[in-house]
Amino acid sequence: MASTEELQVKPEPWLQLIGYDHLLQAWSDLSAAGNMPAVLLLTGRPGIGKKGLLGALAALHLCATKSACGHCAGCQWLLAGVHPEVLWLDGSAGALRIDAAEQLQEHLELNPGSGSSHRLVVMVDADQLNKSAANRLLKILEEPPPRARILLSTSRVGAMLPTVLSRCVRWQVTPPPLVLSRAWLAQRMAEAKAPACSDDELDACLRQAGLSPGLALAMLRSGQVGGREELHGLLSATTAVQVLEWSQQLVRASGLTTAEMLQEWDIAINHSYRQRLGLIQPAVGTRPAASLNPVQLAQRRSLLSQARKLVCGAQVPLNAQLLTEALAFSERA
Ligand SMILES: [Zn+2]
Repeated sequence: MASTEELQVKPEPWLQLIGYDHLLQAWSDLSAAGNMPAVLLLTGRPGIGKKGLLGALAALHLCATKSACGHCAGCQWLLAGVHPEVLWLDGSAGALRIDAAEQLQEHLELNPGSGSSHRLVVMVDADQLNKSAANRLLKILEEPPPRARILLSTSRVGAMLPTVLSRCVRWQVTPPPLVLSRAWLAQRMAEAKAPACSDDELDACLRQAGLSPGLALAMLRSGQVGGREELHGLLSATTAVQVLEWSQQLVRASGLTTAEMLQEWDIAINHSYRQRLGLIQPAVGTRPAASLNPVQLAQRRSLLSQARKLVCGAQVPLNAQLLTEALAFSERA
């Protein structure tokens, strides 16, 4: 297990973010009016830029012009990962344990140095806090020191303890508009000297990635466009044995949590339905997913919605494989 020291990261440059100008302006206004919440949690699907947004939020407190300009000394120190008022913790590499919680507490116990207005802790993927670390933080989340700001993000809000969630102001981040994401993707592919994709191909990939540009780029880079093989198998399985086999493989191969699996299902179902309606074509080099009729679509959506309520609301530790099987069987009932 990596130590907390090794998990410290630098922020991603926020000036390259797309589609969030309105959000940054709203935050800037709140910050200027002194109304920024002390404990803020950004939620939203993976790959949409939450990590960069955390950097921008932190910069609003440290920037000489209070605009997250990216160029002043405060912004530059932040971007270099050396700003003395900021502690960065990143759960994307593994669990955040008790030592991370202790570091956070120690960092916020100190007052800001002269010339600084705040002490900041930024925590990426805060759902990676283990139970004892999360419990250790309850008091400081409930009542942070006056000049402390705690900025968190998660793509798996259902995996966080309700006692932590109830102490955060939540801000739901939605994906950037399709047209901006498409241009961003095309630019990243050109920089990597990858073969150019048509606008339709990029759109198909983005839709399959739930409009998340980061996920779409990862899919294009890994050649995964067209969806997981296991999801194709599940959508086109015709026997109970096939359903069981594919769902076992999905859980084993992907290592998905239940919440992530539900999202993949959602995307796959919508994709196959749009394919049936002829609204989208399968991306080049991939085979078409099985297409669902309207009755099958309604059945699957209803089950997905029930499952989501259980996972996100009541924290029921659903078994991902059992759920996959139930969803896959539903249309054959
Ligand atoms: Zn600045």
